[in-house]
Amino acid sequence: MLNVCFSPRYFAQTHTNSMEKLIAVAEQLQQVNDYKFHEPELIDSGILKALHSPKYVDAFLTGQPKKLATFSGFKPWNEQLRDAVLCIHAGQLLATELAFQHGISANIAQGFHHASYEYGGSFCTFNGLALIAQNYPNKRIFVLDCDQHGGDGTAEFTRRLDNLYNFSIYGLAFGYPTYERAESRHVHTKHGGFAQYNMALHEAFQRASEWQADIIIYQAGMDCHQADPYGSAWFSTELIQKREEIVFNLAKKSGIPIMFVLAGGYQNLEDLVKLHVQTFQTAYDVYYNKKDEKK
Ligand SMILES: [Zn+2]
Repeated sequence: MLNVCFSPRYFAQTHTNSMEKLIAVAEQLQQVNDYKFHEPELIDSGILKALHSPKYVDAFLTGQPKKLATFSGFKPWNEQLRDAVLCIHAGQLLATELAFQHGISANIAQGFHHASYEYGGSFCTFNGLALIAQNYPNKRIFVLDCDQHGGDGTAEFTRRLDNLYNFSIYGLAFGYPTYERAESRHVHTKHGGFAQYNMALHEAFQRASEWQADIIIYQAGMDCHQADPYGSAWFSTELIQKREEIVFNLAKKSGIPIMFVLAGGYQNLEDLVKLHVQTFQTAYDVYYNKKDEKK
């Protein structure tokens, strides 16, 4: 069974519906027997203060000062939101541990890659990708970020954590900086295509191998889908399915453990959940379905 981290505490009522999909995806996965669920507790705030500015972490923990506490964009601040974020980040570490043990795992989570040291942004409170590098100082953490927006916050964190590498393949410019261990491939929303995207995926895995990554953290974003308000015109459901097959097959072949999360997606909930569920099904098929192993 594919090991998956989730808790009903991942949900909080906010002014956007952005956290509803976590519950909806979990409910879909719980209807079949392919997934083993693990429920994280809340992350210790000391761990977050080692990663982010303690002033920012304290603001988010207490809700004061208001402006700093809501910098990530979720308004108003409330205790349910705080606990959801703390639980999701505990899930990041639990899922990482499970990936090291089993070769693959997932956290039904999102909201990380725009958060930098001083503060969050664009519905990313803390950087749960950099968090993994912070927690495993002796492991090399390679982030493959396929959200439609570049992972600018994670890129900034590569300058603080030398065991962190960020590789973003994105369609929308989000001021992505290039550093020694932060690179990106831009695939145009209209003039790009899957051949270019596929090449970028192969380059990412090549880089992960060369850099001798100990684990790959895959941001399986769905905001690149053609029906998404941020999407790429050419990126159909079939091609996203293909992306997932390529990623999980390359990961399996490389022998590098992989942990994946949902990342962005903003089209109507029903269609969006189908896309996210497809990621889990593909991961399951590649790693656990014997029929596929013969291929
Ligand atoms: Zn995005």
